[in-house]
Amino acid sequence: MLRRPPHCIVMANTTTSAVRCTVRATCTASLQLTALLSAVVVFAATPGPAAAAALPVLRRDPLARATQPPAAKAGSSPQVPAAANAPPGPRRPNELGRFPIVEWHQVVEKDGTYKVSRERFKAELAELHRRGYVPVNLSEILDRTFDVPAGKTPVLFTFDDASPSQFRYIERNGQLIVDPSSAVGMLLDFLKTHPDWKPKGLFCMLPAAEAGHAFFGDKGIDGQKTGWRLKKVQFLHSQGFELCNHTLWHAKLSKYSDAVVQEQLARGAMAIDSAVPGYRVRGLALPYGLWPKNRALTLKGSWYDKKAKQTVSYAHEAVFEVAGGPARSPYDPQFNAKALPRVPLQGGTKLTTTLDEMDKPGSKWARFVSDGNPKTVARP
Ligand SMILES: [Zn+2]
Repeated sequence: MLRRPPHCIVMANTTTSAVRCTVRATCTASLQLTALLSAVVVFAATPGPAAAAALPVLRRDPLARATQPPAAKAGSSPQVPAAANAPPGPRRPNELGRFPIVEWHQVVEKDGTYKVSRERFKAELAELHRRGYVPVNLSEILDRTFDVPAGKTPVLFTFDDASPSQFRYIERNGQLIVDPSSAVGMLLDFLKTHPDWKPKGLFCMLPAAEAGHAFFGDKGIDGQKTGWRLKKVQFLHSQGFELCNHTLWHAKLSKYSDAVVQEQLARGAMAIDSAVPGYRVRGLALPYGLWPKNRALTLKGSWYDKKAKQTVSYAHEAVFEVAGGPARSPYDPQFNAKALPRVPLQGGTKLTTTLDEMDKPGSKWARFVSDGNPKTVARP
């Protein structure tokens, strides 16, 4: 939905012929960001130790547990009743099952393409909670360290495009407060009343796209000041959310040269580093789900920043597609972090369609159900 790149951001640093730009007087703010970004070098992160074969899959007796209600951990809420169309009784542990990586874009007045209404967003959070899903972070999936109570299922929230609808500030008496009608505001409110959920989820951000898709708003769009951008990214990080690359300005990676692909990814990661220095950007969401011709470049690459006379490197461990259904368990030998499917939520697609399918007996998408013990892996 982001049709073309902003002129100034690219102009400031690129020499590639694939992108033609013009500098405009109105671009001062963006040029400042570019200057800021150019001053910081992202060092390539070493891919994490999580490899599918690294951990043994331990067998335990799931049937013995299946007859008992899952034990609630201290501090967690009581077991929620299963959905009306889900199998009755406690869910049987299956840590080789699937979990959803849900994907939101704009959270606005009405449902539409890449949009959900605010009411729908709140209802989707409530539905996930009611059905026993628990938000986890990407790093916990990659490192296989998530600790989900018995009977529950991890869910990874992803928020794409960094629009003000996801995260707006309101200035009140000189203080910045999170707009309670933005997605972050609604999610934080939900967490207050559902303390068994923690602030976890992944923001796949654009630092410099059009129409305010620039670290959640700039140039007064939706009342958002350009100077608030890095503060917002820092706030998300401080709350416990994670940060993810979505390119510099939502480039269709399939149509660009290797050099431009690397520039887009390096500068996307570099922008995050300028907000949270040293942050290890482990995830990349492909704009429109389009792969570059050279897929290996999604995982690592580098770009020479002529202005700063430095090479900027990036290294991603997880690459997100835009659709494909629920993801395989990270304990499943076929789990592939390099191409993760997602469950897009927007006008026309319903969350419950996927969740119902996962709860059907014999489903190809049988649901991951925790045994409550992070040290063991319960097979179905
Ligand atoms: Zn996007």
